[in-house]
Amino acid sequence: MTDLSRRNALFTMAGGAALAASAASGAELAQPRRPGFGGDDPGPRNAARDSLSPDMLNQPVTDSGTLPNLKFSFADAPTKEYPGGWTRQVTVRELGVSKNIAGVDMRLNSGGVRELHWHKESEWAFMLYGNARITAVGADGKSFVDDVGPGDLWYFPSGVPHSIQGLGPDGCEFLLAFDDGGFDEDSTFLLTDWFNHVPPALLAKNFQAPAEAFAHLPKESERYIFPVALPPADVQKDRIPDTEMVGNRFSHRMMAQEPIKTPHGTVRITDSNNFPAAKTIAAALVEIEPGGIRELHWHPNTDEWQYYIEGQARMGVFAANAHARTFDFAAGDVGYVPFAMGHYIENTGSTTLRFLEMFKSSYYADISLNQWLALTPPELVQGHLNLDPQKVSFRKDKLPVV
Ligand code: MN
Ligand code: MN
Repeated sequence: MTDLSRRNALFTMAGGAALAASAASGAELAQPRRPGFGGDDPGPRNAARDSLSPDMLNQPVTDSGTLPNLKFSFADAPTKEYPGGWTRQVTVRELGVSKNIAGVDMRLNSGGVRELHWHKESEWAFMLYGNARITAVGADGKSFVDDVGPGDLWYFPSGVPHSIQGLGPDGCEFLLAFDDGGFDEDSTFLLTDWFNHVPPALLAKNFQAPAEAFAHLPKESERYIFPVALPPADVQKDRIPDTEMVGNRFSHRMMAQEPIKTPHGTVRITDSNNFPAAKTIAAALVEIEPGGIRELHWHPNTDEWQYYIEGQARMGVFAANAHARTFDFAAGDVGYVPFAMGHYIENTGSTTLRFLEMFKSSYYADISLNQWLALTPPELVQGHLNLDPQKVSFRKDKLPVV
């Protein structure tokens, strides 16, 4: 071992868990080489980062050509801390291809409130942890209040004002998806911001109240995510008397849906068919057991934005014109598949892989490579692929996880 590679091995132990494990077992640091090709990496390297992208360091031989970057980790997004929690975002500014969808990971401590606000984009959310109370009011004057827990969704149409509060015992964490990659969580319309930028005499006229009533407004920068006393435990008590509730509920119990089950995993699909409010975001929650794959497929309607919840994965993307690249993912990473590109996702870990596929669309749609070939005249397929018909038979029914 040279001095440099020994030093790298030491960095390794201080770095990623995977490399630490391989160093402990005496395994050599991975190098960009295979028999007859490449070499070691004697110069500077970020070994911990290399360990997170093994398919970049040693590309599968089937990879070729140049694709845009299709991965960004929330770990590389700045976290903004507030008195009631924190937030970080992955938008088109972080992941250049993601023009369709932007994501936010947000934590609200027990009692922590995301200030009453609205925005131009529609907001879709998946509860990752804990419990929250959400409120909204529609243009029709109907109100909405509900409690959500792990696996529950909400959807607030563009312009609809809303709030989120972390409940006991330990608040909540959730993933937000907005139907515009250019979304910025710093440019939402905040309640205190507007109050601070209207003359007090005008506020007095508008609310038909004395101007002194508005003398102690907090500055617009003092709220955003801040603590408020916990609401009544019974959500019914938080409903405003003598008002109508919003017709299309803004929340949905995704885990209550009967999943598509296969021997190696499950898929739950939620779009405007079973969650009518969700007019611009469709989603699938995919669970894949170790060794399983989300089958080779593509989407005929739009790009796919992914969020990895747990486990370890590799995604191979086929971009036509002999271009293909493989990306590695872990919990907290975002993946992206541009419109119509073929792809698969493989569980490369030893635990269940869980991730969300999201689409800027009112409906979920995919095309299975296997099903396409099963439903095409066999002689035609055989003429293309020269397969051994004794050994390969295609499936007429779709099996999303194999
Ligand atoms: Mn919002
Ligand atoms: Mn897909």
